[in-house]
Amino acid sequence: MQFEPVLTKGIGKVDLTNIDVYEAQGGYQALRKALTSMEPQAIVEEVKKANLRGRGGAGFPAGVKWGFLPNDGRPRYLTVNADESEPGTCNNRTLIYANPHQLIEGIIITAFANRITQSFIYIRGEFKRGAEILMKAIEDARKKGYVGQNILGTGFSQEITVHRGASAYICGEESALLNSLEGRRGEPRVKPPFPAVVGLYGCPTIINNVETISNVPHIVKNGWEWYTKITANPSNPKSCGPKLFTVSGCVQRPGNYELPMGVTLREVIETAGGLRPGRKLKAVQPGGSSTPMLTPEHLDVPMDFESVAAAGSLLGTAAVIVYDDTVDLVDVALYWTRFYSHESCGQCTPCREGTHWLERVFARIKAGGGTEGDLKMIADMQTQMAGTTICVLSDAAVTFPVSLLKLFPEELERYINRVKEVRPA
Ligand code: NAD
Ligand code: SF4
Repeated sequence: MQFEPVLTKGIGKVDLTNIDVYEAQGGYQALRKALTSMEPQAIVEEVKKANLRGRGGAGFPAGVKWGFLPNDGRPRYLTVNADESEPGTCNNRTLIYANPHQLIEGIIITAFANRITQSFIYIRGEFKRGAEILMKAIEDARKKGYVGQNILGTGFSQEITVHRGASAYICGEESALLNSLEGRRGEPRVKPPFPAVVGLYGCPTIINNVETISNVPHIVKNGWEWYTKITANPSNPKSCGPKLFTVSGCVQRPGNYELPMGVTLREVIETAGGLRPGRKLKAVQPGGSSTPMLTPEHLDVPMDFESVAAAGSLLGTAAVIVYDDTVDLVDVALYWTRFYSHESCGQCTPCREGTHWLERVFARIKAGGGTEGDLKMIADMQTQMAGTTICVLSDAAVTFPVSLLKLFPEELERYINRVKEVRPA
């Protein structure tokens, strides 16, 4: 489809890690505009009116989140969540590696708008090169007067610290991320209080995803009205703006594709080259490993937060994982349950035990030793694991198994009682 990229403009054509190239493409103009001609609150209002929804998975409106910061004189922090770990998701990676100044510009504007004292980028351990790119970009921006003390002579100052995580999936959960940043064990905290009120070092903290913050310069530069018009589904004004879709699995050209919010699932798959010749679509996870599957009847569902939810799944991180008719979904279930079992932090019994139990059940089913009782147990696990724990990892772990049982019970049933058939008692 015809669409002028916003967040990925120039990527693959010019070297946007070079600050001069970024400036030549209009970079840092939004920062200049924000700091020299806008009041902080006006920027918050602009982002609220643009209805910028968080791109980390939950879709919480960024401007509303910013509005939760209490005005009580405590220091305020901004933490950019770059601990991208949701299986199937790698859009932050592209934005960090190929357009780091867009993120830095967004950070400084967000910090100015919210009277932030200090900003952090918490980046996943595997993105070592990404951390190096960001640190170099910050120093280049400092030399140009965009970062550090008295930015552009306005009196506003901001430091950005890049902190590398140690590759634990759970540290992408915002409160576990804060614990890790403070040097503690990376375990989620009970919420509320939300980080906006009690966050880093007990102070008000904004946590936003890399893609969310990367949108901010464009909203400031072009205005909220321009932003709300970026949609392929104008009938839903609640979701808008450019969106990076990470398409993986059984498509001909897996990768990151920037498209307008509300583009159909069919268009996303076609943009990634479609299925391989002769293959049929079986199912799609539209927003990463923790989202329920959609089926071919959903191909015309607009990929926005509301429409995907109405179809029975979640837009999540917009990591579109495509399964064709050659895929054994029981294999996928075993793969995902093994992942969540490994990544559970172990604080909550339903998650610690449940994820491990699910992995064992799927390993047994796959080995041909499953029973009818296992199917009932998978259904029961949802009641026990979802909504009963400190964070949503437990809910995420049981999502695919339950989706499989609901949509493709025959895939499970063909493994049931197989051992008995082969070796009758
Ligand atoms: P959430 O809905 O609990 O919260 C979303 C955001 O809104 C958080 O920042 C939270 O602090 C804030 N918030 C919500 N209510 C608030 C209130 N009343 N006051 C102040 N702030 C409030 O979602 P979550 O548990 O943070 O995130 C779950 C999502 O993360 C899932 O949708 C999943 O797709 C996604 N996820 C993403 C990745 C990744 O790699 N990007 C990895 C795992 C999961
Ligand atoms: Fe840890 Fe799982 Fe509890 Fe989340 S749900 S806090 S990952 S044990």
